[in-house]
Amino acid sequence: MDEQLIIIGAGPAGYTAAIYAARASLKPLLFTGGQIGGQLTTTTEVENFPGFAEGIMGPDLMFQMSEQAQKFGTRFAYEDVISVTQQSCDDVFVVTTSGGAYKSKAVIIATGATARYLGIDGEKALIGHGLTACATCDGSFYRDVPVCVVGGGDSACEEAHFLTRFASKVYIIHRRDELRASKAMQKRVLEHDKIEMIWDSTIAAYQSDKDGELESITLENLKTGEQSSLDLKCVFMAIGHTPNSSFLGDLADRDDAGFIIRKPDCTLTKTPGLFAAGDVADAIYKQAISAAGMGCWAALDAERYINQF
Ligand SMILES: Cc1cc2nc3c(=O)[nH]c(=O)nc-3n(C[C@H](O)[C@H](O)[C@H](O)COP(=O)(O)OP(=O)(O)OC[C@H]3O[C@@H](n4cnc5c(N)ncnc54)[C@H](O)[C@@H]3O)c2cc1C
Repeated sequence: MDEQLIIIGAGPAGYTAAIYAARASLKPLLFTGGQIGGQLTTTTEVENFPGFAEGIMGPDLMFQMSEQAQKFGTRFAYEDVISVTQQSCDDVFVVTTSGGAYKSKAVIIATGATARYLGIDGEKALIGHGLTACATCDGSFYRDVPVCVVGGGDSACEEAHFLTRFASKVYIIHRRDELRASKAMQKRVLEHDKIEMIWDSTIAAYQSDKDGELESITLENLKTGEQSSLDLKCVFMAIGHTPNSSFLGDLADRDDAGFIIRKPDCTLTKTPGLFAAGDVADAIYKQAISAAGMGCWAALDAERYINQF
């Protein structure tokens, strides 16, 4: 056996799992993938991670977590995992990466989920500068200014309703002429005096100011082709997330959107020895602190599993 525990992912879930596992002398090997530090490296100020009363920059928080994991003996491999399989003879996991194949008794998947954006010009540069996919995280930065939410499902409506606590006006931009959200949720947003629907429309372009912050968008009506301009301080994308779970084959069950399904009240997947934590296994909360919490669970679950041998 080469490894006791392999952790895949270098976000809050993976690093927290690594801190716990390393302190339990499991000497985990952690594969970082391409985004070392995970999603929080793409944001600026994080105000809701406990322990930082003045807030902390996302990349700084993730650097601290990485240092803490390393201090207790986590080894990092800067490789992308391509597949996880199991040897039929002894249930050992084989993790194949861009750099080779590694065997391990247990594996924790902490590969996160990627928010979907529209894929139009200039979008990447605006993320964190007036474009985000998390109202819970960034809503309170936009007080008394107009913002919009893109989407038409329950999440979009929930985010729009939440944003009315801060913004002066919340537009919901939706491609169709009716919402997909539940009737109760539709009622909440359609009757809210701060929320205005923009039906049958999408964003055709973004415009930013000299500091690179969003200042307006070009709207396109998908039925008429007509374009118009709207001044906004932030666009909240709510068109879903893609969990990074496709490399797993059939070792773990996934829901229709690709989120890994865990056994109740733990991080175990359908395969003994294979655990999942963080956004990749969480279709609901998708927060750094909940990902870190699940990373802790996964390490404790994995430790218990490994101790059986
Ligand atoms: C712009 C933005 C702002 C946010 N602000 C906040 C905030 O203020 N507060 C808050 O609580 N949350 C915030 N969030 C949400 C938070 O970032 C996520 O909930 C959290 O990062 C999830 O942690 P995770 O460890 O599950 O996954 P991630 O942080 O997504 O990390 C996934 C890791 O897996 C790795 N990986 C993926 N695929 C592979 C592979 N095949 N092989 C190897 N490695 C792989 C990646 O490289 C990455 O290291 C924000 C998110 C975004 C996008």
